[in-house]
Amino acid sequence: MTHKLPELPYAQNALEPFISAHTLEFHYGKHHQAYVNNLNKLITDTEFENATLDEIIKKASGGIFNNAAQIWNHTFYWESLAPMAGGEASGALADAIIKSFGSFAQFKEKFTTASATLFGSGWAWLVKKQDGSLDIVQEMNAGNPMKNGLIPLLTCDVWEHAYYLDYQNRRPDYISAFWSLVNWKMVEERFA
Ligand code: MN
Repeated sequence: MTHKLPELPYAQNALEPFISAHTLEFHYGKHHQAYVNNLNKLITDTEFENATLDEIIKKASGGIFNNAAQIWNHTFYWESLAPMAGGEASGALADAIIKSFGSFAQFKEKFTTASATLFGSGWAWLVKKQDGSLDIVQEMNAGNPMKNGLIPLLTCDVWEHAYYLDYQNRRPDYISAFWSLVNWKMVEERFA
């Protein structure tokens, strides 16, 4: 099957002033698109030619895994964000955050540290474990926690291409902006 770049759930300038249209033009329009183009080339005449993205992520390795996971991770990241969002989780997710991390503030601090300290390129994730509790994990490069049986709830892309045009080397400023965009309604739906 031919994989396609999913549509952005908002306009390219909708995340301003936290993430610029210029960043989205490259991050979504060039980087995310390139992963789609690469995957379609790589799977031709392989056992993954007709596999879904989830199947490829679970079974593949090397370049096929990297490009498939990067497609999935970016789509999940765009859907994790929204204009006029941010704030705090509510409902059952808020209860689970308090149970697993002590308070929303402690969760936020731990997720911020995981995002800031990830060396090189990768992703910070809030995940649900099989027992229903929550955890924060770092994944290098194209890593995806589904590979370890975890359910992704929220992710922060800390590849330099996610923030360099707006914040240059200041990853902490980008992470601070990220909190103003988190689509908690979506994260709550994923948790349920
Ligand atoms: Mn990215």
